[in-house]
Amino acid sequence: MFQAPRGTEDVLPEEIPYWTYVEETARRYARLFGYGEIRTPTFEDTGLFARGVGAATDIVEKEMYTFKDKGGNDLTLRPEGTASVVRAYIQHGMHTRPQPVRLFSLISAYRYDRPQAGRLREFHQFNCEAIGEEDPLLDAEIITMAWRFYEGLGLRNLTIALNSIGDSACRPAYLQALTAFYEAHAGEVCPDCQRRLHVNPLRVLDCKNPRCQPVIDEAPKITDYLCDACADHFATVRSALAALALPVQLNPRLVRGLDYYNRTVFEVWPPVVGSQAALGGGGRYDGLVEQLGGRPTPAVGFATGIERIIINLKHQGVAVPAAPAPRVFIVPLGEAAREVATRLADDLRRRGTSSLIGLGRRSLRALLRQANSLDCTWAIILGDQEVATGTATVRHMLQSTEERLPLPQALERVANLVQ
Ligand code: AMP
Repeated sequence: MFQAPRGTEDVLPEEIPYWTYVEETARRYARLFGYGEIRTPTFEDTGLFARGVGAATDIVEKEMYTFKDKGGNDLTLRPEGTASVVRAYIQHGMHTRPQPVRLFSLISAYRYDRPQAGRLREFHQFNCEAIGEEDPLLDAEIITMAWRFYEGLGLRNLTIALNSIGDSACRPAYLQALTAFYEAHAGEVCPDCQRRLHVNPLRVLDCKNPRCQPVIDEAPKITDYLCDACADHFATVRSALAALALPVQLNPRLVRGLDYYNRTVFEVWPPVVGSQAALGGGGRYDGLVEQLGGRPTPAVGFATGIERIIINLKHQGVAVPAAPAPRVFIVPLGEAAREVATRLADDLRRRGTSSLIGLGRRSLRALLRQANSLDCTWAIILGDQEVATGTATVRHMLQSTEERLPLPQALERVANLVQ
């Protein structure tokens, strides 16, 4: 027996209302904030992610689905959305458009991670990028968009963690201080952190090992090392968010798992904290366009996992709109009726009314039971008598009322009034 591969999920029809709800809400907020949709390939040249996400990140070191195709091309299933969008921005010369270019996408992404609740190997994201503007109001705007989107979904009691991780002017001095501090405490931290300190020092702040927490608490804070330009930028982001009274918590330990970030970084957290359960996150990545071969271009982005949103919607008991049931169930009894049913169903569908035909020569009782369990509003029963007289018995499934009508009137009765 085949099973879906480990870390992947089938989304069955009964789960689809959650997906539709989240995706439609995402599109609505993207439009409200002026984001246009972009769709990029599921796989890209491996080098794009190695260069974009960062060779020393967990994603690139351990988690990528990389393969050679039959032509010997080195390809990778996208582990995230930003690198592809930036590649497209450069490839299509989008710097000539009005800046910033605001782009969103709804994507699948792939990471070879240890599967657990809210952590999959194939997962889905709502991804937003605003490329070509350094103004801190843009950082505040994308954080606000994330916030209003979650709020629009009906999620409650979330918090925003916010930090600035500086830029190439001020971060080196901070990393030096951090490294010196960790070297003095080398015996107290986990082997992972001892290694991280030399390949990707900021990530020590992100370590989940309990042993490292006291050291993290005492470590120097990046916000004490920001240069004037970064400090000013961060102050404007904070005051713009304060003006909207968003529940922002400054967290000088907040860093993110991808190398391309600078200055503003943020995450949105649900009230029940799982191990690593940020609902979404993002930040500024002013160096990435240039690093991928474009001209120097500031940018800021945000990504949130659809599966994690759905887990939280369920957890918070948010009701989502149900998928519409088929409206009409046609019950043909006998051979001649089956032909009439086929034409009737076609007529109804062409008028925009969803219709099913009861199949398999089952009994009236069995077919009505089926119409009932599918939540159809109407059944149309076509027996020998009805066929002989050009009529149909129209049954309202909830009220259990029946009426025999000439076929054209039967059709009028059950068709949607508004299409
Ligand atoms: P990241 O690209 O790591 O910043 O992730 C952004 C968001 O994508 C996270 O906050 C999650 O909601 C979601 N996400 C990341 N990795 C996974 C995963 N392995 N499974 C499910 N969702 C994920």
